[in-house]
Amino acid sequence: MPEDHFGERVAARYDESAADMFGPAVVEPVVDFLRGSGIELDNGVVVNQRFETNVPGIYAVGDVACFLDPLFERRRRIEHWSNANYQGSEAGKILAGADGGYDTVSTFFTESFGLTLKVFGDTSRQDDRIARGSFVQGEAIVFYLEQGRLVGTLLAGQDEDTEEKLEELIRDRAAPSGPRALADASLSLEEAFPHAAAARSETTS
Ligand SMILES: Cc1cc2nc3c(=O)[nH]c(=O)nc-3n(C[C@H](O)[C@H](O)[C@H](O)COP(=O)(O)OP(=O)(O)OC[C@H]3O[C@@H](n4cnc5c(N)ncnc54)[C@H](O)[C@@H]3O)c2cc1C
Repeated sequence: MPEDHFGERVAARYDESAADMFGPAVVEPVVDFLRGSGIELDNGVVVNQRFETNVPGIYAVGDVACFLDPLFERRRRIEHWSNANYQGSEAGKILAGADGGYDTVSTFFTESFGLTLKVFGDTSRQDDRIARGSFVQGEAIVFYLEQGRLVGTLLAGQDEDTEEKLEELIRDRAAPSGPRALADASLSLEEAFPHAAAARSETTS
């Protein structure tokens, strides 16, 4: 009987395709009932960083909100319960008269074939991406770059410290020393992003 390599082929394809899984959202929320209300609609309900629509006193958060992400200076809509939770809390602060608004590196996560995949930042705007590790092996990071700077990551099997560092690097739009350093899982993030590490130690000293 011929040897069946189907499992290996699926595994290899999984590694290749994992980075393709997270593009721009293609689902549009149903907001027809708001047409004619005067509230600006465009891929959901258009709101600013403070979740305010163009109509005073009307706010929108969660799946339906096409909000301004100040980090990437563009409008985005994120369909994930953690985003709805975060935005709801921030809007609650604003309604209670406190400071608040969207001020975070966006994150979402999902389960695929028993693996928890996490996405940080904005993976839709990349012009290059480099992977280290292997999703099949359960530990991997895909770095999404725009003009040589980090704008997002897709990852699996990373510890909390690594996840926090990745969020900081995205917030700083850090530039790696080069593609080889990103692809080499034996190098730490500090080694792969030496300028960001140096800048941080300057600000903390
Ligand atoms: C099939 C499916 C699977 C999902 N799986 C996951 C997952 O595994 N993990 C994850 O993080 N996210 C998942 N999501 C996304 C997650 O459910 C949403 O991101 C989250 O529920 C968004 O919360 P929300 O409050 O913005 O909207 P919703 O939870 O959709 O709440 C909106 C509410 O408004 C009500 N409503 C709508 N129109 C009107 C109206 N005209 N008048 C009055 N009330 C109205 C609706 O009935 C609903 O109760 C999934 C979504 C779907 C559809």
